[in-house]
Amino acid sequence: MEILRANDVSFEYDAPEEGKPAVKAVKNVSLSVQQGEFLCILGHNGSGKSTFIKLLNGLYLPKSGSVTVGVWDTTDESHTWDIRQKVGMIFQNPDNQIVATVVEEDVAFGLENMGVEPAEIRRRVDKALSTVNMTEYAKQSPSRLSGGQKQRVAIAGVLAMKPDVLLMDEPTAMLDPSGRKEVMDTVEQLNREKGLTVVLVTHFMEEAMRADRLCVMEKGSIVLEGTPREVFAQTETVKALGLDVPPMLELSERLKNDGIAVRGDPMTIEEMAQELCRLKSEI
Ligand code: ADP
Ligand code: MG
Repeated sequence: MEILRANDVSFEYDAPEEGKPAVKAVKNVSLSVQQGEFLCILGHNGSGKSTFIKLLNGLYLPKSGSVTVGVWDTTDESHTWDIRQKVGMIFQNPDNQIVATVVEEDVAFGLENMGVEPAEIRRRVDKALSTVNMTEYAKQSPSRLSGGQKQRVAIAGVLAMKPDVLLMDEPTAMLDPSGRKEVMDTVEQLNREKGLTVVLVTHFMEEAMRADRLCVMEKGSIVLEGTPREVFAQTETVKALGLDVPPMLELSERLKNDGIAVRGDPMTIEEMAQELCRLKSEI
């Protein structure tokens, strides 16, 4: 079932100075996101990723084309709050997303603004903190948490709103490797076990490899789309777009160029090890 759709969407920013042209940040993008999907949007800096995902929950409205969340068009102001509740957003900097001085109050913040009953707030906050494994920090000050823990608190705040879709704009860019793993494991679990639809913007190919589907943006357009394996197997194109290729795919490309008949585009170390064993057994 389709949950989000962009129809031929374009967006531009006002010209930086008078006499200069407007900045066309998103150009005629069409995309359909299915319920339960884990979609990743990749692309180098300035390719339009942040602008595009802000169009997906109505933070920005299209200059032309349309965006729909379920049955609602994002330009329909009578449903702005429904849309924001259904499509939650996590940004890059965890510090900019935390508003309260106690973790559980931070998670409750959106619900209080929505006027949810206190007993229901309590239930939802407890559940959301437990889902992201942060229950033991409920009474603590967010300022003492690591970056990865802060992002998980921010995710709990979104989950408490019972969203259908989680949009994330480079949520791990400011985290250390262990924080990145914590956040990505949490996101993957939410998607696989709870069926939450995820749209992740990243420039880390290891994160992109976890998605069901990848879209690569360049100059405001989607230029490549497919499963991670389909996209990354186009090693030269991916590199030309300024992105990293999974090292095992690069190795398999090199082996093929040297006349070794590697099959099936192994993408992980595990897959490559299996394929090398298979090749050895053929010798
Ligand atoms: P990405 O997230 O892929 O780095 P962005 O969506 O941030 O890309 O930017 C796309 C284009 O829009 C870039 O050329 C960028 O300079 C421009 N841009 C982004 N934000 C603004 C803004 N607030 N005002 C003017 N131009 C902007
Ligand atoms: Mg960005």
